[in-house]
Amino acid sequence: MIVVMRAGATQDQISHMTTQVENLGLRAHVIVGTERTVIAAIGVKRDGTKESLAIGDGVADVVAISAPYKVASLEVKSEKTVVEAGSLQVGGQQIGMIAGPCSVESEFQILETAKAVKKSGAHALRGGAFKPRTSPYSFQGMKEEGLQLLQTARDATGLAIVTEVVATEDVELVARYADVLQVGARNMQNYRLLEALGSIDRAVLLKRGPSATVDELLLAAEYILDRGNSRVILCERGIRTYESHTRFTLPLATVSYLHHKTHLPVVVDPSHGTGHAYMVADMSAAAIAAGADGLIVEVHPDPENALSDGYQSLTFEAFDRVMIRCRKIADAVDRYL
Ligand code: PEP
Ligand code: MN
Repeated sequence: MIVVMRAGATQDQISHMTTQVENLGLRAHVIVGTERTVIAAIGVKRDGTKESLAIGDGVADVVAISAPYKVASLEVKSEKTVVEAGSLQVGGQQIGMIAGPCSVESEFQILETAKAVKKSGAHALRGGAFKPRTSPYSFQGMKEEGLQLLQTARDATGLAIVTEVVATEDVELVARYADVLQVGARNMQNYRLLEALGSIDRAVLLKRGPSATVDELLLAAEYILDRGNSRVILCERGIRTYESHTRFTLPLATVSYLHHKTHLPVVVDPSHGTGHAYMVADMSAAAIAAGADGLIVEVHPDPENALSDGYQSLTFEAFDRVMIRCRKIADAVDRYL
């Protein structure tokens, strides 16, 4: 439930109610809005909880949260969350552009890519060091050496680093190098991993599982939020359908739905969403027109020889053209890149 404080409630009253919520065996998430502060009280309620909170000093109302997800819900926080992580901002007027190779392959590859995407106007560099591959015989990533190369690229360009963490035991290691920890589609419902990410001071990019519903994505986000990490970015990356002309099916209606249900920012991955480099420009433009707060795009200096996902990766020139086109679309929807 939500404890809605009166406009002008004092800090003492807010602190008192936070303690009251905790005394009732619930977790308190204080959300300070421009007009009023609310305290989301999350957990198993006892009889009389609502009545007991309602008589607190400075309390305007106590209301139930109807959505199954709580902290992620617009019912709890009506203002959009802006997630900031180094040079990347997602959820505000600026559209956050994350670009880079599927996998970190060498110092030359990641540095050249970082410089090129930065020149084109990207805000963050992506690149997997720990790769979840469908086949155990495919390239599995450079692991910590890859993370060190990402750090070299950040030092050289100032770009924030977005990279995947595949296992709970790697969270601390990856957090030492990354500004944003990516949870891959295959791990969206790895609840121990999500809980571990809830306790760190790093933003999290949570990708939708290929067979997960959007509400399941929001419940997965809730695991991170409920542990106290409010910097969660949601990502639509395509789902598994009967359709075979694309690698996955990219439902852009997700963007619209999520903006009606949650305050969390939403980014779209047109690379995995289509699996074809030639479709990335069109879907990038469409995602921004649909209200996406950012894009995550695969870019490689030599897509033909990439160790993973080359067929959906853009060349530097193609990425530059995507940026030029996206700038125009952003302008048309009162945003900017
Ligand atoms: C990736 O971003 O390279 C990746 C593996 O994505 P996903 O988890 O969406 O398949
Ligand atoms: Mn990839």
